Amino acid sequence: MNEGHLGLSKPPFPIIFAAPSGAGKTSIARGLRHRRNDVIFSVSATTRPPRAGERNGVDYHFLSEPDFRRMAADGDLLEWAEVHGNLYGTPRRNLQDAVAANSHLVLDIDVQGSRQIRQAVPDAVSIFVLPPSGNELARRLLGRGSEPEEDRRRRLRAAREEITAVAEFEYVIVNDDLDKAVDAVEHIIAAESVRTRRLSVLSDAVARLCAGVDENL
Ligand code: ADP
Ligand code: 5GP
Repeated sequence: MNEGHLGLSKPPFPIIFAAPSGAGKTSIARGLRHRRNDVIFSVSATTRPPRAGERNGVDYHFLSEPDFRRMAADGDLLEWAEVHGNLYGTPRRNLQDAVAANSHLVLDIDVQGSRQIRQAVPDAVSIFVLPPSGNELARRLLGRGSEPEEDRRRRLRAAREEITAVAEFEYVIVNDDLDKAVDAVEHIIAAESVRTRRLSVLSDAVARLCAGVDENL
């Protein structure tokens, strides 16, 4: 991508979404993908069994625990964590593919994984998604109807824990109206894209600009 005639390239950066389960990360990430063609979902590896309708390689790479642990031991995971009793991790390959495609890698991961990514990939942007209320969070988890009651309660208890980590994140979005939440993410991407530290070859561009100004002196 070029910025005017200065040739400032804007390299895409990974975007981390974290939130309590049910707050709407997946919905926001999907909304973003409908609007932009420069985002790629990070398909995680997990030992969780597939829910009805989930497809291997599309929603997750569903792995046995030994296979998952082998990937982790081989250094093929950028981060991994145990969440709600199952293992989840981001294949390193996902980031390489996004860089090759000149796209933002969108990661829907938990707070522990977010910490690891922020360490490993400092140019990542981190966004925490909050539900508008506790009742609405419970309603959304119930509405999804994908988990047994005990699992849903476990996720709500975990939500209480996760919410307290919000201040670690650079941005916070309240997902009340889905369209507005996706708007907010687009604004974050727009602002982050023009941060001076992200603009490669800024000094070359400034030198060219100064030369151009000098010609007019
Ligand atoms: P997460 O990925 O954070 O677990 P999901 O995106 O799966 O959450 O959303 C959980 C449920 O809430 C889904 O049924 C989804 O359709 C619904 N949902 C998401 N965002 C909104 C919203 N802004 N308003 C109403 N329902 C929503
Ligand atoms: P679910 O089972 O509902 O799909 O996901 C449960 C939780 O695991 C969510 O909070 C989700 O963000 C998190 N998660 C999904 N993939 C990853 C991953 O690759 N790494 C980490 N650390 N968490 C993940």
